[in-house]
Amino acid sequence: MADRSLRGTGLGAKSFEDETGVEFAPRREVGFDCPRKHHFTLVFAEEAEIPAVWECPRCGAEALSTSGILPEEKVEKPARTHWDMLLERRSEKELEDILKERLELLRDGQIGPAHLHRVNARKRKASA
Ligand SMILES: [Zn+2]
Repeated sequence: MADRSLRGTGLGAKSFEDETGVEFAPRREVGFDCPRKHHFTLVFAEEAEIPAVWECPRCGAEALSTSGILPEEKVEKPARTHWDMLLERRSEKELEDILKERLELLRDGQIGPAHLHRVNARKRKASA
């Protein structure tokens, strides 16, 4: 197999049997805790960016780094909410007026679900 022989060549080319002159990059150990309470540690090069999450080797869940690094908020395009779209069409003042108007109609039993109409009709009859 081609890739196996390539790997063998790569390993054989450099011998780490004698460590003199081999300088190991500074490393640090980072702990991770998964939601199912599995704890594991990974070793990173000192200058490596420590990932905030790592897949738990035992259950596959996303484990959080115990080094206090929090997952970055996705800084992609912020999702446009319904509220954003609404504000593109009307000002908050306009919306307030519309809400007031609709609430009056709703309380009056003129709009809204039918069961509310009946309740309001009865109330109106009772107060009349
Ligand atoms: Zn786990």
